[in-house]
Amino acid sequence: MSDSKKSLTLLSELGEFGLIEHLTSNLPTYHKSTVKGIGDDAAVLDYGSKYLVMTTDMLMEGIHFDLVYTPLKHLGYKAAVVNFSDVYAMNAQPRQLVVSMAISKKFSVEALDEFYTGLRLACERYNVDLVGGDTSSSMTGLAISVTVIGEVDKDKITYRSTAKVNDLICVTGDLGAAYLGLQVLEREKKIYTETSGNQPKLDEYDYVLQRQLKPEAQKDIVDFFEKNNIVPTAMIDISDGLSSELLHICKQSGTGCSIYQQKIPIAEQTANVAKEFRMEPMVCALNGGEDYELLFTVPMDRYDMVFGRSDVSIIGHITDKNAGCNLITELGQQIPLVAQGWNAYGNEKN
Ligand code: ADP
Ligand code: MG
Repeated sequence: MSDSKKSLTLLSELGEFGLIEHLTSNLPTYHKSTVKGIGDDAAVLDYGSKYLVMTTDMLMEGIHFDLVYTPLKHLGYKAAVVNFSDVYAMNAQPRQLVVSMAISKKFSVEALDEFYTGLRLACERYNVDLVGGDTSSSMTGLAISVTVIGEVDKDKITYRSTAKVNDLICVTGDLGAAYLGLQVLEREKKIYTETSGNQPKLDEYDYVLQRQLKPEAQKDIVDFFEKNNIVPTAMIDISDGLSSELLHICKQSGTGCSIYQQKIPIAEQTANVAKEFRMEPMVCALNGGEDYELLFTVPMDRYDMVFGRSDVSIIGHITDKNAGCNLITELGQQIPLVAQGWNAYGNEKN
């Protein structure tokens, strides 16, 4: 073999986060207005009295959504909401949105109307202006890219990297439902194709399906922070699973963490559906993707304020880095947290 023939690296060797790191390491920025580039839920830009935050997300047919069971209206709604979620994760408010689409011939005008109905509804509900985009054709399927800009007072911006030892770790809502919603949809699709058209019974799965198909972003808690003059010490949205996001906070903050199994919020339907699929509800809560809840840390003396809210669970606390990142089970066992979230280039789930 000639030594000039270099073997190529497979994307799966790096994984999604490895690839981003590889492509963007030592990337210079040329402007003072770039306050924070790559590495958080959104970039932070300084253009005056407030910070702007900017985030983008891409949804590909066959990878992120399956049109066999995803209504286009829901898809439009979700494409906007997943970006709003990243804006809220910076403690900011979304303001403007641009959307780009590549569309194959199989789509009708009516189908795209549906998509826009969902997009418009999300913009109306979250008070965001749709201000532009781009439209192109595609050889196969639909690709959607949404970018959102938000704003925040400079002293309220919240990064992933600023959690402190002894801070409380809090999470909004409940976890694992969206992942199980996807399992239900995949199962019903399989049954539908194998039995040539048996209509699925989905009534008892309403909550997990809604969490998968039509997620919401956590505007309420960010409004609550604003009203009560609370600035979390760190925050991230949960798109790749609690474990993965908590590890991001700890790695970037140079800390460890302890979270308690019995404190992790899981809805009753989530637990029931998990059992039906012979999965541990806790594993779904830790590693299931697409919950779009917020994970944040606050100083211990804010305990009363966040504890008063029924939609916030205090699940643990930030520790010294040397203590590692651990889940404490009901029996008091300490299990190291591992990131098994979504990975665009590896196995979907390990
Ligand atoms: P999130 O899950 O919050 O959307 P990601 O994991 O997608 O965050 O991205 C993490 C960071 O990497 C963000 O700052 C994002 O802007 C950046 N990033 C992702 N993909 C690329 C890319 N291809 N080139 C440059 N930066 C990227
Ligand atoms: Mg995010």
